[in-house]
Formats: sequence, C-alpha cells, structure tokens
Amino acid sequence: MKWINHLIDIIYPKCCEACQEPLLGGEKLICTHCLINLPRTNAHQHPSGVLERRFWGKIPVTHTLAYLKFTKKSKVQHLLHQLKYKGKPEIGLLLGEMYGRELKESGFNEKIDLIIGVPLNRQREKQRGYNQANCIAEGLSKGLEVPFNTTSVKRGINTETQTRKTRLERFKNMERAFEVNDEAAIKNKRIAIVDDVLTTGATLEALGKVLLEKGCAEVLVIALATAD
Ligand SMILES: [Zn+2]
Repeated sequence: MKWINHLIDIIYPKCCEACQEPLLGGEKLICTHCLINLPRTNAHQHPSGVLERRFWGKIPVTHTLAYLKFTKKSKVQHLLHQLKYKGKPEIGLLLGEMYGRELKESGFNEKIDLIIGVPLNRQREKQRGYNQANCIAEGLSKGLEVPFNTTSVKRGINTETQTRKTRLERFKNMERAFEVNDEAAIKNKRIAIVDDVLTTGATLEALGKVLLEKGCAEVLVIALATAD
C-alpha cells in the first residue's frame, strides 16, 4: 500500500518544520535550504568564552557547546517550540544527530565517554510523553557514536512549584534537584550533559555538580541552542 502513502504525500505534502514550505522528495522534517542556513554558533571550532562564562566560578566545565543561535521569532525558536510543545521528538533526534556528526568531525567523540540528557520532572515527562533533552542526547549519541543513557541520573524531589518560593529557596531547591542512580556508571567518565536551550545554566550547573560530587571525571555541556 505504499502508493497510498505516496498519494497522500502528493495531496497533503509534508511541510518543513522550520519554514512551513512543502518538503521535496528525500527531505525529512526540515528542508535542505533551512538545514544549510540554520544559524550555527560554531562554538566547537571557535570557542569565544561567551558560553563558558556561565559556569565560571561555579563548576568546572571542560567544554560548553551550543549548536544554534536562538533568537525570538526565528526558525530556531519555531523548531524548539515544535520539539517541546507540539509532540515532535523527532526534531530533537534529527538536530542532535546532525550536531553529533559535526562534533565528531572535530574529534569530540574522543573527549566524551557518556551522554546524558537533563532529566525532566516526572509529571511533565508523562504529560509530554517524552523528554526533549533525551531526544537530543540520543541524536548526539548516534552522530558522535558515543553511548548515552537515561538511567544514571534522575530528578530528585519535586522541583515543579518554584513560583511562590524566594530566590534563596529556589536555589536550595535546585541544589537537590538531581540524584545519581548508578554511581558505577558515571565514575571516572567524561560526561556530556545535554539540554535544549542554554539560558542561565542553573539547571545544568546543578546536574553537573551532582555528577562531579559522585566521581565523574569531567563535565561537558551541550545544548541545541543558546540565547546569545
Ligand atoms: Zn524550510
């Protein structure tokens, strides 16, 4: 019944998740034009210190990498919105794999032993049906050919209701946000922790701190996009 799918594609062509133009044969999710022109940071080739600065004086991070530049009302924002809120985990997988391949070309597969997505609050993951950070981590793993898992760390106490807390309470709350499930799995490993957007870095800092305390060798940060 392949011809039926073909017919459906002709009548209702699938559209690019970035620009909404119909996809051509062979294109998947994002059209070639958008893929080539997505605004990359190239931070893995030219580290500027802008990304790294977020973690200075907080935790030692070996490399801070972000694939794309995030700006309001851009294609990148649209893609991330589809990934997070519109039930499109495949966008995370695709972009993660593309970034993984680019990082591999720069030798990052030699610098990472394990890839871990930032665990999502259990309630939210249930609502969404997936954790977008794990989708990106899985894609990176495929592109870099470095293992990833979703079992080494978990979300700790409920960090959902932050709004009514004071800044200090929020900070204390974040400090206990993550727990290591399996110390043997992270011991002496160089671990890349992955999130969708790098903003203040507070969540990644909290996760990195726990991993370092439990004996991982190094922490790297990889985000799909960065706000600056
Ligand atoms: Zn497009």
